[in-house]
Amino acid sequence: MQIHTLDLNFQDTPNAIASYLIFGSGGPVLVETGPGSTIENMKARLSEHGLTPKDVKNVLVTHIHLDHAGAAGWWARQGAQIFVHHVGAPHLIDPAKLLVSAGRIYGDRMESLWGGTLPAPAAQVTPVFDGDIISAAGLSFKAIDTPGHAYHHHVYQLGNVAFTGDAAGIHIPGPSFVDLPAPPPEFNPDLWVKSIARLRDMPVEAIYPTHFGRLDDWRGHLDRFEILMSEAAEFVRIRLDEGLERDEILGDYLGWQRERASGSEIESRLADRYELSNPLFMSVDGIIRYWNKKKAQS
Ligand SMILES: [Zn+2]
Repeated sequence: MQIHTLDLNFQDTPNAIASYLIFGSGGPVLVETGPGSTIENMKARLSEHGLTPKDVKNVLVTHIHLDHAGAAGWWARQGAQIFVHHVGAPHLIDPAKLLVSAGRIYGDRMESLWGGTLPAPAAQVTPVFDGDIISAAGLSFKAIDTPGHAYHHHVYQLGNVAFTGDAAGIHIPGPSFVDLPAPPPEFNPDLWVKSIARLRDMPVEAIYPTHFGRLDDWRGHLDRFEILMSEAAEFVRIRLDEGLERDEILGDYLGWQRERASGSEIESRLADRYELSNPLFMSVDGIIRYWNKKKAQS
């Protein structure tokens, strides 16, 4: 089994969004499609491996966010079978709601960031459930339901590695830094902590987060990530309790994250890659929404 990291060079930026190409005995399998805006880059990466899109018959996506699965409809129209969390499956077949939800976050930058998002023919979409074994090209992927970043998220374990999407947070090659993607409306740290516990049980030696590339020190990374999640949620909660407005909280949060980045000796170019993979304003809005929902429920 060979795993290749395809750099989709999102927004002309290396190491931001990955897709993973795995060769099984029966041919290639793709994990994550990237967005519609990177299809040409995807074709170029595939041709470096002697492939055209028609050669790829099986595509797995960890969840339906546009940076992970925006091109899934396009792949389905090339004839690929798309494996996706059962909650996300209807939104690949009819992406209208997904696009409205993303539009709330990205506004008029939708087209330039994500390109086109085509509906997938229903017959090309296979809904996946927790514990399912997906057999593709002689490979067996085990789906692990991992809500927290989104309700509709799977990690796919393949032998002694796992493709973690956003469920293990973000780490871009460079100094050991970790980043929290906490988008509205579904970010939920209570669920996420349980998902992290499930990940720790995986008998794997490395993980492949979509942002970005193979990570061997994944247990240390998960420890750092869990601490960051609880600190970030607390950081926002304290300011909400003090009656601060969203923009004030965002300003404070940006300052805090910048400090963390400089403390980790992240150069500014690398910090930009983190920001591109995970805009900080999005996480602030996601955390605020989580607390407001929780308050409304209590
Ligand atoms: Zn996501």
